[in-house]
Amino acid sequence: MFARYEGVAWEERFLPRLTSRQIREMPKADALVILPIGAVEQHGPHLPVMTDALIGEATLTLALERLPADAPVWLLPPIAYGKSNEHLGLPGTVSISAATLQGLVTDIAASLKLSGFGKLLLFNTHGGNVDLLNVVSREIRIAHDMTVFYLSPSSLGAADGVIDPHELEYGIHGGDYETSIVMAIKPQWVQGQWLASELPNIGDKRFLTLEGGIRFAWRMADISESGICGDATKATAAKGEIIQERVADILAEAFAELCAFDVADVRGASKVSP
Ligand SMILES: [Zn+2]
Repeated sequence: MFARYEGVAWEERFLPRLTSRQIREMPKADALVILPIGAVEQHGPHLPVMTDALIGEATLTLALERLPADAPVWLLPPIAYGKSNEHLGLPGTVSISAATLQGLVTDIAASLKLSGFGKLLLFNTHGGNVDLLNVVSREIRIAHDMTVFYLSPSSLGAADGVIDPHELEYGIHGGDYETSIVMAIKPQWVQGQWLASELPNIGDKRFLTLEGGIRFAWRMADISESGICGDATKATAAKGEIIQERVADILAEAFAELCAFDVADVRGASKVSP
């Protein structure tokens, strides 16, 4: 027996485990198709290079167990690779270009549209994909007339009160947040003897930040010696479990909202007098 695709998410919500006939006949008006997009890139001396892709799969596996049986939510095979050129040259990093990722996501969306689906969620777990996927989701909206949602689970606030605020802001790669989650979901893949801690010298800047305010373009080697940005020495599996439980609860509720969402309802009535 082959053990990889087990559990509710993979047995009941994994779209390609169905036949073409089953997919043709299923109701699709509210159906939401989820495309996980991760990365395979260095995450310091202590975390596997699979970290981002792994967190995406584990998070969805947990969240999809919490949906009502009749929720029309479907999971696609994940795109494990992302745009990781900020880590290129650091061993284990496997990056695809912005053009390749855009082409891949767009082609998948176009194929889903031809299969009769109208709603796509880009479920991203790698910071380096964020800007591109914002652009791509709008391009798909315009070119293929689909409703496209986009989210990164790390932006849902699930770590508030669990990870300290300074670490939440600066610990963007291989720090407490990601290490705690991998400790919770796949502890045997964490090298606990090599937990690292490193933050960039930017805390005294008034305007410049890594991911908000005024940004500067950086390669990982510009901002970190160890390849991480954050403090993995504070990580615990217990924190990771709390975060994953919260994320799964939030997502289960959010997916119901996305299924019911109709973009035609968004535009408000004009208040301009005649
Ligand atoms: Zn990561």
